[in-house]
Amino acid sequence: MATKTKHADHSQGNRSLGIDQFRVLAAVMVVAIHTFPFAGISETLNQVVTLTLFRVAVPFFFMVTGYYVLGPYSERKNYPKSWRIYQAILETAKMYLFVCLLYLPLSFYTGALSFSMPVSELLKIFIFDGPLYHLWYFPAVILGLILSRYLLKKFTFSFALVVAILLYLIGLAGDSYYSFAAQLHGLKAFYLMLFHLFDYTRNGLFFTPLFLILGAQLYLKRSVQFSYPVAKLVVSLLFLAVEGFLLHRFTKVRHDSMYLALPVASYYLFIWVKSWQPKLVFPRAKEYSLGLYILHPLSILLLYYGAKPFPFLKNNLVQFFLTLVITVGLTTMALKSLSKLNRSKIAPIQRAKKQLDFSALHLNYQKIKQQLSNRTKLMAVVKADAYGHGAVEISRSLEYVGVDFFAVATLAEAIQLRKNGIQGEVLILGYTSPEEAGKLKQYDLIQSVFSLEYATKLNRKKTAIRCHIKIDTGMHRLGFPPSIQELQTVYSMKYIEWEGIYSHLGSADSLEPVAKERTEQQINVFDRLLSELADLGIDYGITHLQSSYGVVYYPGLSYDYARVGIFLYGVLSQSDPQLQEKLQLKPVLSIKALLVSTRVVASGQYIGYGLAVKATREMRIGTVAIGYADGIPRNISNTGYVLRYKDFELPQIGNVCMDMLLVDLTKIDDLSFGEEIEVMEHCELVAEKGKTITNELLSRLGTRLERG
Ligand SMILES: *Cc1c(COP(=O)(O)O)cnc(C)c1O
Repeated sequence: MATKTKHADHSQGNRSLGIDQFRVLAAVMVVAIHTFPFAGISETLNQVVTLTLFRVAVPFFFMVTGYYVLGPYSERKNYPKSWRIYQAILETAKMYLFVCLLYLPLSFYTGALSFSMPVSELLKIFIFDGPLYHLWYFPAVILGLILSRYLLKKFTFSFALVVAILLYLIGLAGDSYYSFAAQLHGLKAFYLMLFHLFDYTRNGLFFTPLFLILGAQLYLKRSVQFSYPVAKLVVSLLFLAVEGFLLHRFTKVRHDSMYLALPVASYYLFIWVKSWQPKLVFPRAKEYSLGLYILHPLSILLLYYGAKPFPFLKNNLVQFFLTLVITVGLTTMALKSLSKLNRSKIAPIQRAKKQLDFSALHLNYQKIKQQLSNRTKLMAVVKADAYGHGAVEISRSLEYVGVDFFAVATLAEAIQLRKNGIQGEVLILGYTSPEEAGKLKQYDLIQSVFSLEYATKLNRKKTAIRCHIKIDTGMHRLGFPPSIQELQTVYSMKYIEWEGIYSHLGSADSLEPVAKERTEQQINVFDRLLSELADLGIDYGITHLQSSYGVVYYPGLSYDYARVGIFLYGVLSQSDPQLQEKLQLKPVLSIKALLVSTRVVASGQYIGYGLAVKATREMRIGTVAIGYADGIPRNISNTGYVLRYKDFELPQIGNVCMDMLLVDLTKIDDLSFGEEIEVMEHCELVAEKGKTITNELLSRLGTRLERG
């Protein structure tokens, strides 16, 4: 329908299964580097495979970080992108601290650390070398990220890359090529000075930046189809093998982490891995690769002492496999106890709580995607705190599975997403005061523009603002009339970057003939306008029209995006068994509240506020700690609304109060104080009895509901 603008390529940048899975293989290679599986078979095999080819493992990890963390930043240096870098540095620092503590006894035992060390020596260890042989990785990520970010911020991408290559070359001559460097006097003096600062040059200064920046470069090129990727990979690995072989055979390598062919081989490896579609999938690959990396020295130590009485275990290959098995076991144990810890952290309900089921959210996302045309992507509508679900959690979770565009109603909602690290595009559907133009720019947001006066005021702010133009195709709420003259004026405004055009359907939720007629007319008006604009050579950017019902009732449309709200949350606006049968959505939210009191009421007594309900027999009733201030509509009182406890329905009785409501416990008389009651098992039914739609019901949930 529309041509894509320069900003509209959000086609990739999502998670890759290949990258995810290769982490485990890379971690296995690291374990091999520390256990020499082939040393007992042939020294050449050991040198060429373990000490040379397997060296791609750590650069691979760096490139993954470069791809996901530095990549988005090098594309656009706005707010959320640099935030992601800080976040990665912080996470790595925490992990580093944790691992240092874990290995502290061992570091002292091996003499790597001691109480008599001067501060300068400690700094050297913690900033560059790590207190145990494999721990250099963490400070190298941190230092590498700081350095690369600085380079990318101050200079062009190519210049940053050149600097990183030069740094790598300096490191190289202090690593496996040191025997050459040491022959030149001046150079030797230089390296001896460096080796005062750190033991090895494969560190955050010389080694990491290049791989981080190469990762970022592949992110920038993520939609490029590379030719002959496998052949290039094989050839570069061959070069690497030959280089490693020659160096080990004919020179005395000081250390063997860095090779000339290593960056090239790592680059082509990453390209191949990114599109790798493994048949067998290792669950929780990220956690296990981290576990393997962190814990394998512990297994080596256990084996060293444990295997003493069993000489046959001294075989390198056996040791390698045993190390893997033990480490996987340790990791499983660690993950289990962590998840137990997390589970015990789930606080019991204090009063009333909303709980989110993210797997349901992902399922709904998949189901809705199946309804969309191939070229249409989903824009997640997360206004009103994601319809009461929590905009930040919902957006993060959707971003993780590939959603790259979010819609909110207000500037504050948009800023909240940015401040919590949401990186996708954020479109504000409602009005933002032109006074806030600076904020729109600062947080890299997209504003909807729906009238000439508004566009003029925004333009006067002389700030480049990204906008989508809203057209009134017949709903008559917001938008420009579909008239070319007015639009031409707007499109010529200097400071506004027009990146998209959209409209909204007024009656897409009904298939009644009149509703259909109205909708089809709206679609026609929109399409006609788009083709008129295209005829005039106006690049209107990306297009979107449908919301949830528009997607399922008008599946033939194929704009760039569809703005989906309510269906993502797994509910229909109104109950509709047929549609539910077709879509099979699963509710994301469930609400539970405590039964805080029970009592028996004598026949003839009035119950609750007012005189609406009088007990006609002796009744056992309960008080549930949720009320209209929490979002249970008051007009649902005495309409046959039922709550649930396990298999039992608990009919609501009396008028819903602000903080409580009453239920009839006659049918389940052993239910006692403190039980958790399911409040909204079928959101559509609750909405129906409250004479509203689920959209309203959910978005009005009160703020004092606990989350969990
Ligand atoms: C709220 C809203 C949506 C989402 O509608 P759902 O019916 O929840 O999918 C889409 N577009 C606009 C303009 C909206 O205001």
